[in-house]
Amino acid sequence: MSILPASERPNPYSAYGAHGSVLVLNSGSSSLKYQLVNPVGGEAIAAGTVERIGEPSGIVTHTFAGNRTRRELEVADHGAALRLALGMFDEIGPALHGAGIYAVGHRVVHGGAEFSGPVVVDDDVIDRIESLVPLAPLHNPANVQGIRVARELLGDVPHVAVFDTAFFQALPAEAYTYAIDREVAREHDVRRYGFHGTSHQYVAGKVARVLGRRVEDLNTIVLHLGNGASASAVRGGVPIDTSMGLTPLEGLVMGTRSGDIDPAVVFHLARNAGMDIDELDTLLNKRSGVLGLSGVNDFRELHRLVEEGDEDAALALDVYVHRLRKYVGAYTALLGRVDVIAFTAGVGENDAVVRAAVCADLEALGIAVDDDRNAARGEERIISPDWTKTLVMVIPTMEELAIARQSVEAVDRLHPSAAVATG
Ligand code: AMP
Repeated sequence: MSILPASERPNPYSAYGAHGSVLVLNSGSSSLKYQLVNPVGGEAIAAGTVERIGEPSGIVTHTFAGNRTRRELEVADHGAALRLALGMFDEIGPALHGAGIYAVGHRVVHGGAEFSGPVVVDDDVIDRIESLVPLAPLHNPANVQGIRVARELLGDVPHVAVFDTAFFQALPAEAYTYAIDREVAREHDVRRYGFHGTSHQYVAGKVARVLGRRVEDLNTIVLHLGNGASASAVRGGVPIDTSMGLTPLEGLVMGTRSGDIDPAVVFHLARNAGMDIDELDTLLNKRSGVLGLSGVNDFRELHRLVEEGDEDAALALDVYVHRLRKYVGAYTALLGRVDVIAFTAGVGENDAVVRAAVCADLEALGIAVDDDRNAARGEERIISPDWTKTLVMVIPTMEELAIARQSVEAVDRLHPSAAVATG
C-alpha cells in the first residue's frame, strides 16, 4: 500500500473555502497559546504564546510571516494575556479584522460525560464546563477563564468549545468502566474519559485520507507521544479503548507523569512517607515518568545521557518502551486486526529510536519498521517495509487545525444559513 500523491487525495475540507480563518486558543493555568488557522489549507497564518501569566516577568512570542517577535513584560491575568496577543496582531500582523475570523475555537480539557462533540459557547455551556471543575481542577478553571475573556474581547464572532475528551465519549462501557463499587463510581463520575481526543481523532482520520481509504475500513492504533502521552485503539473511526482515564495520569509513561501504577502505591506513601494528597498529586503528575527516572524529560536530552552511559537514563528509556509495547499488544488483541500503527506528537514524530524499539521483534505479528524509512524526515509517511501486514506510519498531529475545523462545523450546524451566506 502506498501514500496517494497530494494532488489525488480528495480534500474533504474544500467546503470550508468561504470561512476565512479561525483563532484557536489554548488557555493553561499560566499560559495562553494561540494560533490563527486557515481551516481549508491547514496552515497557521500566525501563532504565539503568552507564558508566565500572573508572574512579574511574562514572556510573549508572536510569529507571523516567518518573523518571530519576543517581549518580556508583566502579564497580570488571562485578560491581560489575550489583550497582549490581540495587540500583537494589531502591531505585527495580520490585522484580525482583515483576516475574516469565522470563529474562535477554544481547547477545553475536560468535557466529562456532558460533551461528545464541539459546542458553540453560550452562558449555559460555560456553566456546564465550570461544573466539571472537580474532574479537572488544574485545567478547566483556566479554560473557562480563557473563554470568558475571549468572549468579552471578541464579542462579534461565535466561540466554540472543543473538548479533549469528546472523541472518547464513544468508548464502549467495558472500556470506560472501572471495576470499583458502582454506587461510588456513579455518585462521583469516576470512569475513564480519555484525553488528547482531538489528536487521536485527527490522526485516525488523516491515516485514512493519506492512504486513500475509508476510515470505516481501518483498524488503527494511535500512539500520541508528546510530553503527555496516550494510546488509543480505533476501529473504523470509533475508539474502543484509550490509555488515559479519569485524568491524564493513567496509561503510558510520560515526560513527568507515572502513567499506570498500582493505586496502592498512593496508600503506601500516605501511610509510610507521610505524604498528603497534594504532594502525591505533584509526585505522580510532575515528578515522575521519564523525569522522575532520569532527571530529564526531553527525549533529546535523554538520548544524550544514554549515549554517555547514564544507567538511569537507559532504564527510563527501557521502562518507557516496555509500557508502550504492552499497550500495542493489548490493543492488537482488542482490535483483532491492526491495519495501521500511527506515531504522532513530539516524540512520536521525531524520535526514530523510540519508534524502532516499540516495533522491534514483532515480525510474528506482522509489524516491523524499515531502518531507512524510519530515519528519513518528512511529513506523513509509512516507515514499515513493504511486506508487513500492519503499516507503521508517522502522522504529524495538528490539534489546532482540528480544533479550527471542528469549530467551523459547529458554527455551521447551528447557523446553516451562515455557511450559505458567506459562500
Ligand atoms: P509535544 O508535547 O507533542 O510538544 O512533545 C514535546 C516533547 O517531544 C519534548 O518534551 C521532547 O521530549 C520531544 N521531542 C521534541 N523534538 C524531539 C526530537 N527532535 N527528538 C526526540 N524528541 C523530541
